Amino acid sequence: MAECLFCKIGAKQIPAKILHDDDELFVIADINPQAPLHALVIPRKHVPTLNDLAAGDDALIGKMMRRAAAIAKQHGYDQSGYRTVFNTNAEAGQTVFHVHLHVLGGRSLKWPPG
Ligand code: AMP
Ligand code: ZN
Repeated sequence: MAECLFCKIGAKQIPAKILHDDDELFVIADINPQAPLHALVIPRKHVPTLNDLAAGDDALIGKMMRRAAAIAKQHGYDQSGYRTVFNTNAEAGQTVFHVHLHVLGGRSLKWPPG
């Protein structure tokens, strides 16, 4: 996707702080962090929203979830707690239409979210 921000970051056309990189996904530090740890787990495959996932993407989503847990553990928040979020479409506040998993940790997070 030529005009997709996360495809461009994945292709190294736009710089980002890369926390992990492999064949199927990469992890970057969010440019506007909402917690001491705010990472984005991003699949290389361009899928706009969760609504666009196919059965064949199940393993990829599982890999994203396990990577989120690994990132939280690396930062020392696996036991204290962290939050994983997919925002989908307007009312959830999705702004980048390439699926990504937010990983937030390092402070007490309120529930319900705003
Ligand atoms: P969402 O609102 O769920 O679509 O999340 C998009 C996230 O991408 C936001 O938390 C933004 O702060 C973050 N973001 C936008 N541009 C960049 C960028 N160039 N590098 C890293 N994170 C970004
Ligand atoms: Zn994309």
